[in-house]
Amino acid sequence: MTNDATTDNGRTQRDHVITLGTAGGPRWWERGRLSDRCGISTAVVVDGGFYLVDCGHGVGRRIHEAGLDFKDLRGIFITHLHSDHTIDLGSLALFGLYELGSRMGNPVQILGPGDRGMLPPLSPRASKMPAYIAPESPTPGTRETFATLMKAHATDLNDRIIDSLRPSPHQLFTATDITIPEGIGYHPNENPTPDMDPFVIFRDQWVTVSAILVEHPPIAPAFAFRFQTANGSVTISGDTAATANMSTLAEGTGLLLHEAIDFDYIDGLYAGKKDPTSIAARDHHYKSHTSAADAARIANKAGARRLALHHLVPGTADPLVWKDAQENFDGEFFLPNDLDVIPFDL
Ligand SMILES: [Zn+2]
Ligand SMILES: [Zn+2]
Repeated sequence: MTNDATTDNGRTQRDHVITLGTAGGPRWWERGRLSDRCGISTAVVVDGGFYLVDCGHGVGRRIHEAGLDFKDLRGIFITHLHSDHTIDLGSLALFGLYELGSRMGNPVQILGPGDRGMLPPLSPRASKMPAYIAPESPTPGTRETFATLMKAHATDLNDRIIDSLRPSPHQLFTATDITIPEGIGYHPNENPTPDMDPFVIFRDQWVTVSAILVEHPPIAPAFAFRFQTANGSVTISGDTAATANMSTLAEGTGLLLHEAIDFDYIDGLYAGKKDPTSIAARDHHYKSHTSAADAARIANKAGARRLALHHLVPGTADPLVWKDAQENFDGEFFLPNDLDVIPFDL
């Protein structure tokens, strides 16, 4: 959707987001046809530059389709370390060798959750501890995840660095773990979402980015982010159950981009299934995601001017399944497709 401030080339000059990818979940949503929705990723565009929130599948291609230029990338923010939010972080860094040469000496910051610090509790549906991945470091944070991704591609990268004299991705990107404030009672298993105030994680001349913990067990920490500019703000939920922290972070925001799941779809998916895997998967969705009606309730409580739903699960849902949000939200409502433009100024 465009707006009244678009220029001759179709680009808006107002602070806005471009919804690069709007589907949630670690899958391609085929079910007979490929979804038109790529994996979750959002560009926050301010004064000619942009910030990425999450790197779902297809993000690099969507950046080009959106008419954005990689050299204008000012930062990457990862809400949490589920693969549907990180799967193309590696491809951005690897293919970025050809797009981001101008960032030598001025690397793009990648900010995301730190190491969980301990495994999540074993599902009560399990009869014994399964064999899990990488017992020597089973819950890496953003910094370690990025380093491991680059190490996995060392054969490729070293060819390019040594033979083609390309830069190292470590010269173009710096990955940092977000430090959670002390004294708020956070614990990854026992108290992953304490009531808290937002805290600043990034600042440049265009934006101040704040974070807050959200409720997406068993992963922890999981963050929502708010980008504040001179003209307005956008608040992006990450993946979360309905939580009071979202209303806190989104207070008075110009645009709330909130995740949404169709619980009727989830119920249908696991109807009649009694095996532990199905029951555990259904449990996960109910304790970790938000209905369209609850997203509207949170947006109303926050006094958000606009609400858009994204991270849609399923990614192939008929738009009608999200109507509860439109019917219950007091402000301007959007159900964006990929590559839609939504302003967030006040
Ligand atoms: Zn997700
Ligand atoms: Zn998630």
